[in-house]
Amino acid sequence: MSRYLSERHARLEAYTPGEQPKDRRYIKLNTNESPFPPSPGVQAAVSEEVGRLQLYSDPLCRDLNRKAAEVYGVGEDHILMTNGSDEILQFAFMAFGDESRPFAFPDLTYGFYSVFADLHGIPYTRVPLREDLGICVEDYDGHHGPIVIANPNAPTGRLLPPDAIDYLVRTHRDAPVIIDEAYIDFGGESAIPLVDRYDNLLVTRTFSKSFSMAGARLGFGIAQPTLIRDLDLMKYSTNPYNVNRMTMAAGVAALRDIDYYRENCRRIMKTRERVAKQLRTMGFFVTDSMANFLFVRHGQVGGEALYHALRARGILVRHFDTPAIRDFNRITVGSDDEMNALLKAITEVLDDKGYPIKENV
Ligand code: PMP
Repeated sequence: MSRYLSERHARLEAYTPGEQPKDRRYIKLNTNESPFPPSPGVQAAVSEEVGRLQLYSDPLCRDLNRKAAEVYGVGEDHILMTNGSDEILQFAFMAFGDESRPFAFPDLTYGFYSVFADLHGIPYTRVPLREDLGICVEDYDGHHGPIVIANPNAPTGRLLPPDAIDYLVRTHRDAPVIIDEAYIDFGGESAIPLVDRYDNLLVTRTFSKSFSMAGARLGFGIAQPTLIRDLDLMKYSTNPYNVNRMTMAAGVAALRDIDYYRENCRRIMKTRERVAKQLRTMGFFVTDSMANFLFVRHGQVGGEALYHALRARGILVRHFDTPAIRDFNRITVGSDDEMNALLKAITEVLDDKGYPIKENV
């Protein structure tokens, strides 16, 4: 760090994105991207929009909001489009947190929540997960301040049902409750229908996973217009043109082609269930994930050892150096071919280490 870095940021611990090494071709199962390309409609829309890049993008995102409002069954004034869902999440921390409004979120969840809180000087409480790695919403009783929950949670993939979300929002009417639905399209039920009933609910979504657009950076929030206006204040105080022209065109086209993406999600879910079952027969503990990744632990091979052994075989998975989950790996659900290569590589690793394959369910 230079001596010019401000004191308030001197101890900031930034988020570490998943690695993207270029030394060889890898099967990338480490950042929860989709194995499927964007629909042809998205590719055509982006090519066409390139010719208009001399013009700023529409700060009101009108075309995209109109299409999203139609798809998600809400008013256009209930939506705010952002540069990835990381941006709407950051806006929520900026808008709703301060010394007297501490955030609460699970002790094991998306790593950016604590980074945003630290960046903006917002205190926070980490609420422990239960022994089964699930979230118990009653554990948030008595917290006065905003709450953010990823549903399904990351990196566990565990899903809360809509009545649990309803409980959380209903019992915390004095502060916003943010439900991060980055992975909801892989079998979960969205909390969007609750937005009409509660003015303190913000649901966030991303185009990075189920819409195969991680590289385009597009996310959004759905809430009643009063909350949306608070978040808009953050947007117009940082970057009014936060969604670029090509991404906006891509977003409209993706929503038009939603059936293509729904089919891809079904394929990913089918592959997830098959691979989870196979990993269990190979001696892994596998959480019941409703996301596009699996969270797994082998009784004998440590998480870091498995990560290195797979990397040496050209397969990237995610290992977190957090004590409670050091034995785990998070594995993105890729295509069937990619997952077959993964299972073959794991079989080799277990054979090399002389571990007999035994069932663990
Ligand atoms: N929420 C969760 C739980 C995530 O895992 C991610 C992906 N890293 C995000 C939000 C942010 O995704 P993006 O900014 O690509 O929309």
